Amino acid sequence: MNMLARVRPDLAGFQPYASARRSGLVGTIRLNANESPWSGDGCPTGFNRYPDPQPLALRSDLAALYGVAEDRLWTGRGSDEAIDLLLRGFCRAGRDNVVGLAPSFGMYRIGAQLQGAEYRTLALRAEADFALDPDRLLALADADTKLVILCSPNNPTGELHHDAIGHLAQALAGRALLVVDEAYIEFAGIPSTTALLDRYENLVVLRTLSKAHALAGARIGSLIAHADVARFIGSIAAPYPLPLPCVAAAVAALEPVALERTHARIATLVAERGQLADALARLPRVRRVWPSAANFVLARFDNGPAALERALAAGIVLRDVSAQPGLDDCLRITVGSPYENEALLEALA
Ligand code: PMP
Repeated sequence: MNMLARVRPDLAGFQPYASARRSGLVGTIRLNANESPWSGDGCPTGFNRYPDPQPLALRSDLAALYGVAEDRLWTGRGSDEAIDLLLRGFCRAGRDNVVGLAPSFGMYRIGAQLQGAEYRTLALRAEADFALDPDRLLALADADTKLVILCSPNNPTGELHHDAIGHLAQALAGRALLVVDEAYIEFAGIPSTTALLDRYENLVVLRTLSKAHALAGARIGSLIAHADVARFIGSIAAPYPLPLPCVAAAVAALEPVALERTHARIATLVAERGQLADALARLPRVRRVWPSAANFVLARFDNGPAALERALAAGIVLRDVSAQPGLDDCLRITVGSPYENEALLEALA
């Protein structure tokens, strides 16, 4: 079954806003978008014009980077925007639900709440190293489940759940989208789920330039899915999601030389991750450091708040994740530069 059948019924046949750039009309004098005829003082040429909704160069670079056909890809303001649009486009407020993991990335719950969709979670147990039983996740889904969100590597546990994807996608076929959030996949050293897109129409993969590509400030995230789903998400998105300077930064970051440097940095961070995890595990007040496939590690301390404060006293900010179920006394620690990691270890020693 085509997954557009699971879109909110009131959005069936939705006609997107007919923006000036979407019209595709070409001319030398452009008087159709109420733009200024002049560039602003000190601004690069062209900033007086609205940007292309899906800039050709960026789209083709991203499609090449992710190894997918361009019509399967929609790009917008970080994967945060893709998450929001999936929830808004598919979930009927007050009726539909979304299934995810706990602990996991906090924006799934926020997005569901904003849309009035119930967010159901399967608790992963720290004692079991956050192992996922996919059938227990599936047991949470019913006829009103529109999305099942699998974050892998999971934030904040660092655990990979890719083994479950084929089974989940198959079981949810025709019923719900399986959204695999691969924000940290570059640090995992495994292939992306995009390889399975031909097999499962209900698969959605989220990628971002915010982490491995060092562009969190540019806000460039991609949704990769069946072409119908990608087109639908584009149709409900804001008319011009991608500011010109952000697009330029992203295109520059995807040039071959820049990509080479990115790969070298990923290798450095992965090596640092191993050393940081080992060194943390040796500290007397650290109870557990979980293996991580991402650019952070999750650690449980004898006293989480005290460790947080000790780091802060040295000017180092860590993420307190202890409010998430089962994560008492746990901190999420981003892998920094060798200097930053050293400074943290000194502060905690
Ligand atoms: N997914 C996960 C799992 C994340 O951890 C984050 C950022 N913390 C995002 C998505 C959002 O990324 P973006 O910057 O692309 O919006």
